[in-house]
Amino acid sequence: MFKDFKKIQIKMPKKFSVWHIIIAFGFFILLQMYLMNPGVRDITYSDFKKLVKDGNVLECHITHTMVRGKLREIERGTTKNVIFITARVDDPDLVKDLESMGVRYAGHYESPWFRTFFFSWVMPLLILFVVWRFVFKRFGPASSIMTFGKSKGRLYAQEDLNVTFDDVAGIDEAKEELQEIIEFLKTPEKFRALGGKIPKGVLLVGAPGTGKTLLAKAVAGEAGVPFFNMSGSEFVEMFVGVGAARVRDLFNQADQKAPCIIFIDELDALGKARGANPMGGHDEREQTLNQLLVEMDGFDSNKGVIIMGATNRPEMLDSALLRPGRFDRQVVVDRPDLHGREAILNVHAKDVKLEKEINLHSVAAMTPGFVGADLANLVNEAALLAARRNKKAVGMPEFEEAIDRIMAGLEKKKRLMNMKEKEIVAYHESGHALVACSLPHADPVRKISMIPRGIGALGYTLQKPTEDRYLMTRTELLDRVAIFVGGRVAEEIIFNEISTGAQNDLEKATEIAKLMVKEYGMSDKMGLVTFEQGNRPLFLGGGFAASKEYSEETAREIDLEIKKIMDESFHRVKALLTEKKEILRGMAKTLMEQEVIEGEELKKLLEELHKANEKSARA
Ligand code: ADP
Ligand code: ZN
Repeated sequence: MFKDFKKIQIKMPKKFSVWHIIIAFGFFILLQMYLMNPGVRDITYSDFKKLVKDGNVLECHITHTMVRGKLREIERGTTKNVIFITARVDDPDLVKDLESMGVRYAGHYESPWFRTFFFSWVMPLLILFVVWRFVFKRFGPASSIMTFGKSKGRLYAQEDLNVTFDDVAGIDEAKEELQEIIEFLKTPEKFRALGGKIPKGVLLVGAPGTGKTLLAKAVAGEAGVPFFNMSGSEFVEMFVGVGAARVRDLFNQADQKAPCIIFIDELDALGKARGANPMGGHDEREQTLNQLLVEMDGFDSNKGVIIMGATNRPEMLDSALLRPGRFDRQVVVDRPDLHGREAILNVHAKDVKLEKEINLHSVAAMTPGFVGADLANLVNEAALLAARRNKKAVGMPEFEEAIDRIMAGLEKKKRLMNMKEKEIVAYHESGHALVACSLPHADPVRKISMIPRGIGALGYTLQKPTEDRYLMTRTELLDRVAIFVGGRVAEEIIFNEISTGAQNDLEKATEIAKLMVKEYGMSDKMGLVTFEQGNRPLFLGGGFAASKEYSEETAREIDLEIKKIMDESFHRVKALLTEKKEILRGMAKTLMEQEVIEGEELKKLLEELHKANEKSARA
């Protein structure tokens, strides 16, 4: 395995600040001031009377509560008109005075309660509502109390999906594994009559965009059953209990439509290991997860409801979800290899007009690391580019440009490797494989790949155990350590430096060495003693707080023994790979060209390389 350390990117929810409220409030006050009195001078009633008597009031409007009007003001020789307002005082002489001065006046009746009502009730409520909506949008997945408990959105089954297996390409292994499920959904009676046990839950594991949703839909489409689609994050709500109610609702609906498929995307959003967060976990999520477990246990799989989950982080899932009777079947949806990519391109290019001489194989060769969603996007981009250029069909230049664009996007997401990284990964994986092929006690290599698998790994080497193993000898364990070390040593020999990618390998190798010394009594120096009492569960204090039953001195010796095993393995592997350096080069080169080498192919390749090597050695 080769680990990618740039992977983790934590998204923080944007904080809603108190400033928003203050600004809204200030705005409200300004608005009110503007509406109520635009540049108005507030004067006392006595001043008003005086102004009237002096003939400085030009006109006024009289209401029950106030007098409003225009007055003349003389300031440094110039006169200007000012609007004034004054509270009305019970004054029977007012009209007389106005008449005598010839002021234009008018009475007004208004229903003051309307304005008061509007400003003191409607406006504040309106603003509160807006603020409230705003806060909720920020904090929770958009929802309001209105949708309480009811599952929202797509909870209604999609009945006639037009997706079939023909629309899914490049992931044939996964398709094969799902064939049985389709058979069952089509004719559940047949299986029931035989008393067969049908899986309840199938977990699709794979990177985003590899086609997990598409695959689940295709299963429903092939079997002709309804499809319920929900995302794990949709279950996790702000209000405790809502998610659980949704799960119940979902299963109720599905029950009525059986046989059918329930698809839960982003299962990890819901099924994160419980208690993983010591600072007071997420009650709501836990409740929802518990409800899901209860529902999964509660219904009879023979009814024909299959639950499919999708995740790209299976290691995050609560182990309770993976127990028998739940998501016990796991289907890996890999990133497509060269052939797979060509097949996917063919699917998506079906409805696109291509130039005659276009070669989708070479397009596939240019797009290592692309997943199905990227390829669909690629075809679409190319078609758009062609349209923009007023071409009648999509040609190679459009594809090339579209690839460049998508690559740029992906590189930002750190999903594609640059050439140097690719070379390192190729040598690293070839190192593992070559060591495995050279040692007599190692399991044969089934596949080497540098197509990133899962999130962290940039490449992988698969070994296939020839038989089930319960006992392993010391030599076999040492060979295992050697294989883990092989990746790093290969990097060291070829590039004369080492990358961070080997950390995971070293961890595993050290783990084996530790077990050999501490538990299996396989170290000459420490002898036939075991220093560890089996594997205690973590919560019983196994993990970090485990009590040591041996002295500091012994601990030091154990460490030294582990180090000795590791050092010896390093030297052994280094000698081996240095001797076979040319073969290593040949393997890495082929791997870079093909991205994947399967077991049989690898055998042949090794034979050829060996022959070539001997020839050159003799010459
Ligand atoms: P995921 O659920 O794994 O994130 P999706 O199923 O949502 O991926 O894939 C998104 C789109 O990418 C699909 O609708 C389809 O157009 C395209 N796609 C992905 N994988 C494939 C595939 N193997 N074959 C054909 N199209 C694919
Ligand atoms: Zn490795």
